[in-house]
Amino acid sequence: MPSAETEPSRPPSHLPKTHASNVTAADVQGELIDDAPVFQSDASPLLEVKDVHRDFDGGHVLALRGVSFGIRQGEFVAIIGASGSGKSTLLSLLGALDEADQGEILFRGEPITKLADPAAFRARNIGFIFQSFHLLPTLTSLENVQVPMFEMGWSLRERQRRARELLEAVGMGHRLDHLPSKLSGGERQRVAIARSLANDPPILLADEPTGNLDTKNSGQIMELLETLHRDKGMTLILVTHDLSVARAADRIITMRDGQVASDEATHQSTPALH
Ligand code: ADP
Ligand code: MG
Repeated sequence: MPSAETEPSRPPSHLPKTHASNVTAADVQGELIDDAPVFQSDASPLLEVKDVHRDFDGGHVLALRGVSFGIRQGEFVAIIGASGSGKSTLLSLLGALDEADQGEILFRGEPITKLADPAAFRARNIGFIFQSFHLLPTLTSLENVQVPMFEMGWSLRERQRRARELLEAVGMGHRLDHLPSKLSGGERQRVAIARSLANDPPILLADEPTGNLDTKNSGQIMELLETLHRDKGMTLILVTHDLSVARAADRIITMRDGQVASDEATHQSTPALH
């Protein structure tokens, strides 16, 4: 028997107001008209999770059990919850790294499972950041940042120029030729953030990005992510079990046993009154 708090949330009415433009990219691109997305209004979510289930081990592990919510363009959402509550599973589905067993995830009104090419979708739309950085150990910073760019068919010169710019933007311009093993944890995460931005994706998915960092480096990485959200209008979905990190978000979704236990705006989403 589902309790009131685990009932699926109903976008768009509960969604916090953000400073994001009322016009979504879906409005601008005519491509969705034929498919008649459910939400055509100005509150149309960029991502919509609809009653998603994901099982493992032949149904013995119910990682996600009917998860629903919407995320608007430009939102900064933190997903918190105990270990094993389904956060990483959910993030993988949002990034089209995995598929739901039931339910669906819509990107700009279109089911991502119907995408002809999930790799191309990811390359163009999603930047990933992980707790353990996932940099390739034999590649320098400059080379690691170029890895996602191969999907785009750019020339070597163009890739190198962009990678250098991105590394400079995250404060790593002085470590272009370093291997990951020669960098500190905070520096590795900066390189990973630069890599996540390689193709200028509208959405950043971060799974415990500060989980391996000390307090100082953690604070600096969060500042960098907040700047990307604030200044570039990136949609940021951040998984963390650290409430102090989650409080930086506009909104906190709490997962419990594979379900949404609560979904609340934080004070961050209230427009400043000055
Ligand atoms: P969280 O990120 O919140 O710690 P996860 O999404 O990683 O939680 O895991 C949710 C549940 O699903 C856990 O019980 C975990 O053991 C299980 N799980 C996740 N991925 C797999 C997998 N590939 N195979 C089997 N079980 C998995
Ligand atoms: Mg996890």
